[in-house]
Amino acid sequence: MKSHYRVVVIGGGIVGVSVLYHLTRAGWPDVALIERSELTAGSTWHAAAGFHAVNADPTIAALQRYTIGLYRELQAAGHGNLGLKFTGAVTFAGTDERWEWLHAALASFRTLGLDKARLVSADEIAEMCPIIDADGIRGGLFDPDDGYLDPYGTTHAFASAARAGGADVILRNRVLSLHPEAGGWRVETEQGTIHAEHVVNAAGLWARPVGRMAGVDLPVTPMEHHYLVTEPVPGLQGLSHEIPTLVDLEGFTYARQEGMGMLLGVYERNPKAWKPEGAPWDYGIELLPPDIDRISDELQLGFARYPALQTVGIKRWVNGAFTFTPDGNPLIGPVPGLRNYWAACGVMAGFSQGGGVGLAVARWIVDGDPGADVFGMDVARYGPHASTAGWLAATTRQFYARRFLIAYPNEQLPAGRPLRTPPSYDQQSAAGAVWGQSWGMEVPLYFADQPGFVERPTLQRSEAFGIVAREVHAVREGLTLLDTQAFSRFEVSGQGAEGYLDRLLACRLPGPGRIRLAPMLSPSGRLMGDLTVFNWGDGRYWLMGSYYLRAWHLRWFEAQNPGADVMLRDISDQVAGVALTGAAARTLISELAGGALDPKTLPFMGCTALDLGVGRVHVGRISVMGEHGYELNAPAAEMRSLYAALHAAGQAHGVVPVGFHALGALRLEKSYGIWSREFTSGYTPRMSGLDRFVAFDKPDFIGRDAVLADRDGPAPARRLVTLAIDAETADASGFEPVWAGDHLVGQTTSGGYGHWVGQSLAMAYVDAAVVEGDALAVDVLGRSRAARIIPPSPYDPGGARLRGQA
Ligand SMILES: Cc1cc2nc3c(=O)[nH]c(=O)nc-3n(C[C@H](O)[C@H](O)[C@H](O)COP(=O)(O)OP(=O)(O)OC[C@H]3O[C@@H](n4cnc5c(N)ncnc54)[C@H](O)[C@@H]3O)c2cc1C
Repeated sequence: MKSHYRVVVIGGGIVGVSVLYHLTRAGWPDVALIERSELTAGSTWHAAAGFHAVNADPTIAALQRYTIGLYRELQAAGHGNLGLKFTGAVTFAGTDERWEWLHAALASFRTLGLDKARLVSADEIAEMCPIIDADGIRGGLFDPDDGYLDPYGTTHAFASAARAGGADVILRNRVLSLHPEAGGWRVETEQGTIHAEHVVNAAGLWARPVGRMAGVDLPVTPMEHHYLVTEPVPGLQGLSHEIPTLVDLEGFTYARQEGMGMLLGVYERNPKAWKPEGAPWDYGIELLPPDIDRISDELQLGFARYPALQTVGIKRWVNGAFTFTPDGNPLIGPVPGLRNYWAACGVMAGFSQGGGVGLAVARWIVDGDPGADVFGMDVARYGPHASTAGWLAATTRQFYARRFLIAYPNEQLPAGRPLRTPPSYDQQSAAGAVWGQSWGMEVPLYFADQPGFVERPTLQRSEAFGIVAREVHAVREGLTLLDTQAFSRFEVSGQGAEGYLDRLLACRLPGPGRIRLAPMLSPSGRLMGDLTVFNWGDGRYWLMGSYYLRAWHLRWFEAQNPGADVMLRDISDQVAGVALTGAAARTLISELAGGALDPKTLPFMGCTALDLGVGRVHVGRISVMGEHGYELNAPAAEMRSLYAALHAAGQAHGVVPVGFHALGALRLEKSYGIWSREFTSGYTPRMSGLDRFVAFDKPDFIGRDAVLADRDGPAPARRLVTLAIDAETADASGFEPVWAGDHLVGQTTSGGYGHWVGQSLAMAYVDAAVVEGDALAVDVLGRSRAARIIPPSPYDPGGARLRGQA
């Protein structure tokens, strides 16, 4: 062990060795892995070690595919025996709805390039696995690239490859504490002190205590998980092939062959956390006592599905722990608020994702960029609210218990709610608000017209379809209020504010009293934000964006060195908002202001402070709904009274509250993209059309060289378009393939029904060669629907309504 390393990786499970290996592969040999015990001594050694290529998140699916490819490479390079078995896997459906869901899943896999996956009948499943009772199975989805491996051999193969690249692997040496110091971290270990530029938390079951060594509470917790291994099963003997992994979604089990026996794993509906604050330091290579009563319902389903298991002995029960995050995805990347402290933990499916996680983290450390849009795994997708013991326990338990259930697009899950509420929560609830949540904040989805209205979960258009239609019409024809507490707000002020923002944002800064749409770029010219910047004319600027990106944006803002003369504050909790939309909006504001509001005082894309009623409100004339509208921002403590005043004075104009489902439909009718769908860090301004807001002639801003090169280079292979779809009972929702005949020509990013234009709509990235008039098709819930490109903004393409001219 040396006293200095560039990077110290804490933890020798499958994730830690993968990070280490990828660092050496990226050309950083001066790195070490410190392991408390032996390699694999956490979750890794006793995993069932199945791997799957597919995932609902396309970036995670790409990393999973990369992981599987890497196994073959390591095996071929002679770094040991990984025990790879490519048996394929069948995920099967026990209901018609699930069968429809699998059709939709297959369609989205096509967009990921997983073209070997196919649907199979119950008979084919029985042929692949003669010991299955196929009764009730509607069919399955078979992916030949799936399989399983030897967790010990694979972990050692990564470590051996990393050692060959120059890394040190130091065993039986617990990291005791971490101390920030100039240039990085002082790492105190049982074997002595190490100074490191970077520290990576790959501590698996101990990720939370290793986070606390640096003063952070990471949203990750260990949970119990069972599988059993049987004695040889007669029906497997004499087979010419090994059976594929079998995932019984309605039965909550997965199964595969283990020698001549079977391994049956259970996703219990009544899950149990184990040591929520992290495993004890002296936890050895040991199993937890099996808790068979708790999993008996799922076991019965499993034994009925594979009747041969009822008559063979059980050789081994495994109850082990592995880590969960509230959404089941890993936590990777720079931990907000800390310098050079990296997360590579919370990896629930280490054998599907470990390779990709290692690649992304290593690239991020070495290049300053993970190389892909990894937001779905980024540790900064959570804020401090996600780390409290109560919230974490409720949400991780919810995720685990639902792992095999259909995630319906119209379902609102209850765990950890309500946590944060907007000031007018009770007023909106009294008006019938049905709530969703974003980053812990309650968000009104729509306002039900009958007390106790509850939507049934469905893959089709939901029972709220008509309510949302009425709200859309109210926005287009009347006067409406939309709670905008769930927008993020950052205030930038001080002598250096203008210079800092001018470099941070790719747009020209707005003059005093003006607003601008503000793309923000990485040095490589990829999108880092689709913000709105307000210049209040008194030295203060506001940046507004998506609420769930608060920690993600703040980490980026801070990384761009604001300087001592810049004050940067996240004021999202101090300021609340409401959007007032409709032709009568100006009249209502004038009434509350006690005098006519001159359009010159507040032109389109203007902003100012106004005294409305008894409070001072910061008003911007801007609308994401494509109408004459105003966004009103008030101190959170004053929003309740502002909301009441708007509501009372608005009665004469027929004001009604509306929710975010209506906003979703309205923005599609305007072809306005949103973050995580049309805009991600995987796209450039040119691909996404945000280049129209880039000030190419500004002398200096982050990403300038790259965005200029992109502007002057060849046209991007794909472009963002709006599609009209001949859908009937369900609309596109995103990630559906777009076809021109047999050719896959694109992928939807979002979709829904345009209630005003009366058309099912989607936005999609399609090949540059595809043009308006081409006959296209989109697979909606796995069914092919005719589609065509339409000109952007099917509603009010000239923007006259938005500007208040019509
Ligand atoms: C029963 C069971 C079945 C599973 N089946 C599958 C499956 O089929 N497919 C799949 O993909 N995944 C499966 N998993 C999950 C898989 O095991 C995990 O995703 C994976 O092992 C996580 O690896 P890790 O490196 O993040 O963490 P761990 O394996 O927990 O490794 C963390 C390491 O960090 C070390 N460490 C911690 N603190 C310190 C410190 N202070 N100093 C030094 N070292 C430290 C620990 O000793 C440990 O070795 C299963 C898990 C279980 C329990």
